[in-house]
Amino acid sequence: MSASISRWAQLSKTLLFRYGLAILVTAVALLLREILDPYLGNYTPFITMFPTVALLAAYVGLGPSALSVLLGLFGVTYWFIQPRHSFVFWHRPSVLIATVVYLIFGAVMVLGGEWSRRSRLKLRRTRVLFETFLDNSPGAEYLKDESGTYVYANKTNKTRFTSDFIGKTDFDIFPQAIAQQFRDNDLAVLRDNRPREFTETTDESDGVHTWLTVKFPVIDADGKKLIGGKSIDITEKQRAEDALRTASAQFRRFLETAPVGLVRFNRDMLYLDANPAYAEMVGLPLEQVIGRPLQEVIGAEAWQKISPHIDRVLRGERVEYEAILPYPFGSRHVHVVWTPDLDGSNHIVGWIASVMDVTEAKRAEEHLHKVEKLAAAGQLAASLAHEINNPLSSVINALYLLKRHSAMDEHATYLVNTAGSELERVARIVKQSLSYYREGSTQQPVDLAMLMEDSLQVFSEKIRHAGIEITKKLTPGTSILGFADELRQVIDNLLLNAIEATPDGGRLIVCVRSSLDWANLTQLGVRLTIADTGVGIPRESMARVFEPFFTTKPEKGTGLGLWVVRGILAKHGGKIRIRSSWHKPKSGTIISILWPSQASTSQGDALSRSETAN
Ligand code: ADP
Ligand code: MG
Repeated sequence: MSASISRWAQLSKTLLFRYGLAILVTAVALLLREILDPYLGNYTPFITMFPTVALLAAYVGLGPSALSVLLGLFGVTYWFIQPRHSFVFWHRPSVLIATVVYLIFGAVMVLGGEWSRRSRLKLRRTRVLFETFLDNSPGAEYLKDESGTYVYANKTNKTRFTSDFIGKTDFDIFPQAIAQQFRDNDLAVLRDNRPREFTETTDESDGVHTWLTVKFPVIDADGKKLIGGKSIDITEKQRAEDALRTASAQFRRFLETAPVGLVRFNRDMLYLDANPAYAEMVGLPLEQVIGRPLQEVIGAEAWQKISPHIDRVLRGERVEYEAILPYPFGSRHVHVVWTPDLDGSNHIVGWIASVMDVTEAKRAEEHLHKVEKLAAAGQLAASLAHEINNPLSSVINALYLLKRHSAMDEHATYLVNTAGSELERVARIVKQSLSYYREGSTQQPVDLAMLMEDSLQVFSEKIRHAGIEITKKLTPGTSILGFADELRQVIDNLLLNAIEATPDGGRLIVCVRSSLDWANLTQLGVRLTIADTGVGIPRESMARVFEPFFTTKPEKGTGLGLWVVRGILAKHGGKIRIRSSWHKPKSGTIISILWPSQASTSQGDALSRSETAN
């Protein structure tokens, strides 16, 4: 059907067809006049030609209709004008007038028809152009009247929603809520009488779509007010924007939560960006870092250390270094990686730094190193002590026998005594070293309060002699799991140190009770405290008191007491803390040990902390 129509349309355009049609129609008109001839006679010879020419002029065009006028002229003159069968039409005025009128009418028809045909065609072309233009627009374009009834909707509307918009309102097409939203916006445009922009939504099979809509008042040819609208589906764009926003927020969070300092510098060594971890490292709020020169933020001293690397990274090298940087707010040991920052065309526009604060790690590493060294030393000391112990006993025994020997003069006796006291000193050292490293035997509940009582009993004579007043705060039955003789050695060493440090008339407070860990208040444990009003520990000694052989008592000290204490506490999971003041008359030392309740014993180093108060 459509094929035959288009063939017809094709055919109707050919010259031959159009002229043929004109000839045919003219012939029919002449035939009709011939049929009517018995009724009309010589009157109105052109009568059938008027509508014929008018029709041809209107629909077939200038040439064919002009041809029809001429054919009509000749045909009518020949067949219907007296004298018939001749081409004479001027011998009677009435016939001449009729002929001239016919020709004038013909000319007017032909020209007028052509003119109207052309403007009709032009109008159609314009309409088609506009319709294809609007139908090809990817947006939805539409016109509604004041009541909201569609007078135009383009293809996008029709393919996306329904094929018939015209004559309907949004309420006929869309769900109530969505139609209401459209209508509200339409009314806003009518009220304001100016173009307005809206974000509108529709609910489609693949979910909610967002449209960016412009609506504007339109006055049509009749002066009627309409609402014009143009909506573009921005769902994809918006989804992409949302995704981008989420991605960049996630990325931001990465930067913000990274425990590594991340920084971007430009070629002028200004901070372009930095994350909170970095700001914390340099001890400044982020706002005081970004935009400022590197040198200003890290200080002159740190700048000196890192500036040689800047040339390298700006030359395109990846630079990695470790340094102790004296930042203005405290020195940090950092591991740094610098990578050149490139722009789109691979020019170096600055560099990106990742700065890892390894201060704690380094400290822990050093500590571990020290502990390992100490453990090795302890092991060696213990085995040496063990080896020395037997010959030592023999020598002491021999000296004892020698002293009783009658044949010794005064000088010999003096020498033997000196040798004896020196050897006793050696014996003390050996005894303490031996206990540091002892394996085997299982741990048992040890009543610390009882242990303390025993120790005080042993030292009672010494304490009385030194004129020291004792205060005891012992909760009976406060026990931990451990080795009694080693814990006894801890108490003995601490008590002895306190007694030796305290002058005549001083005070000693000992305390054993259940307690919370001060550093972690959810941790229960047992606390032992020994406080004295002795000379105190100067700041410079404080750092060294746990070192083996560190002593301030050259006469009677071994410098092994606290070292042994620490070793034993490590085995028992105890934490020791020393606080001391060495300013007279308020000098004194408080040593406190905490055994956490479920402390895993026999592993790790005693967490020791010490501080000096002035
Ligand atoms: P020693 O007692 O043999 O000197 P320690 O390891 O027991 O060795 O102690 C090391 C040093 O710590 C002591 O020489 C002393 O200077 C200091 N010290 C320890 N305890 C106290 C205390 N309660 N008061 C003052 N100084 C102390
Ligand atoms: Mg001691």
